[in-house]
This record gives sequence, structure tokens and C-alpha cells, in this order.
Amino acid sequence: MAGTRTGHKRLLRDLNQSIIFNLIVEHGAISRTDLARRSQLPAATITRIVGEFLAAGLISEKLAEESSGGRPPVFLSINPNAGYVVGIKLREDGMTIAICDLNCTIIFSADEQITGEAMPHRVVEAMTGAVKRCVSAASVPMNKVLGIGVGLSGLIDSARGICRYSAILGWRDVELAAALEFKLHLPVRIDNDVNTLAVAERYFGAGRDAANFLMLTLGRGIGLGIVIGGEIYRGSSGGAGEFGHMTIDTSADAPVCNCGKRGCLEAIASDYGILKAATGADPGHHVEDAIGTLIERAQQGDEEVRTIFTRAGDALGIALANLTNLFDPARVLIGGKGLRAGELLLEPMRATLPLHRFGAAYESIELVPQTTDDASWARGAASLLLREVFRSPIYEGDEALVIDDLLSQANAGSQRRRKG
Ligand SMILES: [Zn+2]
Repeated sequence: MAGTRTGHKRLLRDLNQSIIFNLIVEHGAISRTDLARRSQLPAATITRIVGEFLAAGLISEKLAEESSGGRPPVFLSINPNAGYVVGIKLREDGMTIAICDLNCTIIFSADEQITGEAMPHRVVEAMTGAVKRCVSAASVPMNKVLGIGVGLSGLIDSARGICRYSAILGWRDVELAAALEFKLHLPVRIDNDVNTLAVAERYFGAGRDAANFLMLTLGRGIGLGIVIGGEIYRGSSGGAGEFGHMTIDTSADAPVCNCGKRGCLEAIASDYGILKAATGADPGHHVEDAIGTLIERAQQGDEEVRTIFTRAGDALGIALANLTNLFDPARVLIGGKGLRAGELLLEPMRATLPLHRFGAAYESIELVPQTTDDASWARGAASLLLREVFRSPIYEGDEALVIDDLLSQANAGSQRRRKG
């Protein structure tokens, strides 16, 4: 997890700004009196910071509708259009781009294809062009864009902005963040795509009130984002959460996984695992139509196909039981295209989970299915930037975005600090 910055004047300023900004966000609308009471900051500090926020258009004032006599209080609320972030979910053959406001609400999204081989320099070119086109199509001034977040599957060193390994792109040690920063002159953050979904849920979704939760994604592969104490847990090399390769079946004829091992969860419960069990053949990369047909057959009562989904759901239940025994999460969010199978997977999963979960007799675990389309993955990538603005500036190094970046953005021609 992130280290902490040590005390100096700049940090104190960043902290006070962050406290006030987050109180306004948290309350939606809050008076200056309430800000003073909740922040415990001196009135002069609040007046100065609120004044800076107002002058930069980061917040706005409005009068309360009703009051019990006297002057109606003035409420402060965030202006979500004071800044924007761009999120990109990168695939091997294209990308989904989302432009989000400060509430992480998508105001524009688009899909772009990448033709030919996914060589890093070609992908960077394609991403650069796509970002410029989308920002322009969304009528967002470039100087209001805070930065770019990118989510992709694989082993990602997010602190250094390097894609260590991506099977779908065939990349090793690609300095993606630096290459994009060079092209776009904006801060760029990258992370594993499942982690980006978890970050979005942590700050703007179902994980807001949970310091410890898990984000499970089902589909072509099986992914896991782990949030502990409000922070993403990445492990020592960014490889934490390879949940899909947890061994579930130790029998000699267990299905072979893409990783080469036998009996991995992914070999049984991912879209390709389910298809392979049904057809006996490797379904290759493009499985969407085939899995759709299989779901229909199961829903129409094809018992043989239903059994395959039940086995997949059971495997998910066992794996999740092991996981919850380790992490004791407040809840498990479940997303990804694999959810199209719905109760075919979820019912056996819910039934099997308590059979293998320690303490299940005393407390049940909350499983929360989430709708995730391509744009929600891109929104997750965008949240990488917003997370830096919203979290306490006591964490991270000097390169993290802080409220000051939003303020300076309001002044034309401002120098934006870049990740060094
Ligand atoms: Zn595997």
C-alpha cells in the first residue's frame, strides 16, 4: 500500500483543501458553518479555501429553499463540470473510451477499433487519436481534462505505469503511461482492468461504505479486485488477484486451463471453460455469440447444458468460499459479461458457498451482482485519476493529482504537474 508524505507547508495546504473538498462532496450541499464544525479548521482557513474554490468554479453557492426565519443559509456544492477525466478500456482489437465529470458520471463514450497487430507504438498512436477525437466530440476543452486512465488485462505495475505482461496484447514491459504522456501532455495512470472497476466502486459505487470488499468479474476470464482498508491490494509485483487460477479440481482428467495447469477455476467457470465443456473444442477468442446460444439452450431446459453451468457455479461457490475465508469482506460485487448467464451460475454459486465457508452458519455474505458494460470498464479507468483527487493527499508521492491541479486547471495556460 501507499506510503505517506511527511509534513511541510505544501502538504498542510493540500490536506486542508482535501478535507473541505471531500466534506462538500460527501454532503452534496453544505453550509460554511457546517464545514467549520465538521472540519475543525479555523474560520479564516475555510473562508480562504472556499474563496479559491469559488473563484476557480470548482464549487458553486446556492441559497437554501426554506429557513426558520432570518437569512437563509448559503450552501456550497461541487460543480461536476469543473474538470473531466478520460478513461480507456484497452482490448486486443480496440478500446472503449469514456469521458467522465468529477462525479465520475459518463458524459460521452465511444468504441474505436485497432486494426492490424497490437504493436505498442501503433496502439499508443491509436489511443492518442481516439482521445483527441472523443474530447472534441464531447465538446470538452482540452485544458479541462485532468488526465487519462487506462485499464487493461494483465500484470500491471501501476506505480511505474508499466504493463509487465499482457497475454491478450502479447506485451512485455511496455512503458505505456510514459508513452501516452509524451503524446498527450497529460498525466496518465494505468492499472489492471479489474482493479479499475474496484476503484470506481470504492469511490463512486457500491464500495463507498465498505473499507473491505472484493470485486469479482466473470466472462472470458475470471478476475478479482481486492480492496483492503479502502485501498486496492496489488501484491508485491502487481500480480495479486489471479483468482481465475485457483485450483478447484485436482482430478487427473480436470480441464486444462489457458495457463497450462489443470483444474483452474477459469478452466471450469469462464466463458471459454463452459464452451469447451459443452463442445469439447477450444472456442478461440471470440466466444460472445457461442456463449449466448449456450445460455439460451440452458434456459430452454437442455439438461446437459444446465449441468455444465451448475458445475461452473459450484466451482465459483467453492473458490469464493476460500476467498472469503481469507479476506472476510463486507461484500462481494460481481460483474462482467459472464453475468449474462444469471441464475444459471448464481444459484449454484449461492448454494455451494456456505458449504465451504468458515462461520457461514453465523453470518451470510452479501453477493451483489453489478451491471458492467464496456463503458463501465472505461469509467473504472477514468476513476484512477479522480481517486487521486478525492483521497487524502497524505498518501502517494508528489506526482499524485491534488485539488490544486483542479484549481490551476481553471487558470488558462496553467502548468500541470506530470507524473515523473
Ligand atoms: Zn489457470
